[in-house]
Amino acid sequence: MQINEQQLAQVDHQIGRLIAADNFYGKRLKEAGIDHVSTVEDFLKLPFSEKEDLRGAYPLGLMTCKEEEVVRIHSSSGTTGMPVIIPYTAKDVDDWGEMFRRCYEFAGITNKDRIQITPGYGLWTAGIGFQNGCEKLGAMAVPMGPGNTDKQLQMMMDLKSTVICATSSYALLLAEEIEKRGIRDKICLKKGVIGSERWGEKMRKRISSELGIELYDIYGLTEIYGPGIGISCKYDTGMHYWDDYLYLEIIDPETGKNVPDGEWGEIVITTLVKEGAPLIRFRTHDLSRIIPGECPCGSRYPRIDVISGRSDDMMKIKGVNVFPKQIEEILGTFPELSSEYQIRISHLDGKDSMRIYVEAGGNHDFKSLQQKVAASVKSRIGFTPIVYVVELGFLPRSEKKSKRVIDERFQ
Ligand code: ZN
Repeated sequence: MQINEQQLAQVDHQIGRLIAADNFYGKRLKEAGIDHVSTVEDFLKLPFSEKEDLRGAYPLGLMTCKEEEVVRIHSSSGTTGMPVIIPYTAKDVDDWGEMFRRCYEFAGITNKDRIQITPGYGLWTAGIGFQNGCEKLGAMAVPMGPGNTDKQLQMMMDLKSTVICATSSYALLLAEEIEKRGIRDKICLKKGVIGSERWGEKMRKRISSELGIELYDIYGLTEIYGPGIGISCKYDTGMHYWDDYLYLEIIDPETGKNVPDGEWGEIVITTLVKEGAPLIRFRTHDLSRIIPGECPCGSRYPRIDVISGRSDDMMKIKGVNVFPKQIEEILGTFPELSSEYQIRISHLDGKDSMRIYVEAGGNHDFKSLQQKVAASVKSRIGFTPIVYVVELGFLPRSEKKSKRVIDERFQ
């Protein structure tokens, strides 16, 4: 998806502003002797920006507008190191709300819907983003925030919420609670808008069948507005994203070069109209691909595939690049196995080896299952792993993200 004339002009404008603000990126441009872009080649020479750069600008070093124009800040979680603070102008907040309204519209949600919002409110961009979009659409927001499942379900029944916004893990938890309490017939949900983390097809099917709802994947990250910069439509053929606000590239994470449309790589985002903290060629480390061609829905907005993982997840084993998703897909073809697995990589006797732990019920022949799984990995990826089938429930469960890959080579 090559950058077009209008997008180039917008980036050129941002470059002038970044240099004037003299923030980290403005300085980088000056060092590189770049003060404008007018061609695709110029654009591709622009340096990348990284989360580490944003951390270095803490607290307000990213601000590219006058301080009196900033109406709000948000912050990404500081699980590793310094948090990142993103300043927003009134226009940024409005633009974000407009993108989010579009997301709801693409999911077929209207002003007659009642939208129960379970992501957190506060410094982080989730809850308030869902809320802004909902109000712009004119639907009724039920701003619950996370947790308190009893109250969550009570409101869901009493207010007859028709849409649930949640992470996939919380949606699954709610689905299981509804089932356990036998209150399915009191629930009026029709759709779920689910934050796009990598989640397996098995989990997806469970949420959608237990709640009896259609699921939509929504994409976004705090550094770039927040959730709401893209969503899947009813044809479920990837996520449309808003190229009037953002320019997306897919690069090879190792070489930094653009890959052709259709090929997998890392998403790199340039904000086109952001005022508070514009970002140029920001490396998200999210893995996806541009989906070529037109969506059956007829929308002109381009599409990316659902996020398949993070570029930092890539494992290099015996010279082959492997992503956890590939292993997960192979395991998904064995109905005998549960959705849980663990991959351990080690270096023994001068060779890399991969061990895969999977779960199955005790009524299966573990030994033949081990051989079948190993053979399937060999034929699809090119090397033979050591497979261990263990009893159901043996692998650790987690409320948040389970750690599925353990690389013992670097410990
Ligand atoms: Zn579509």
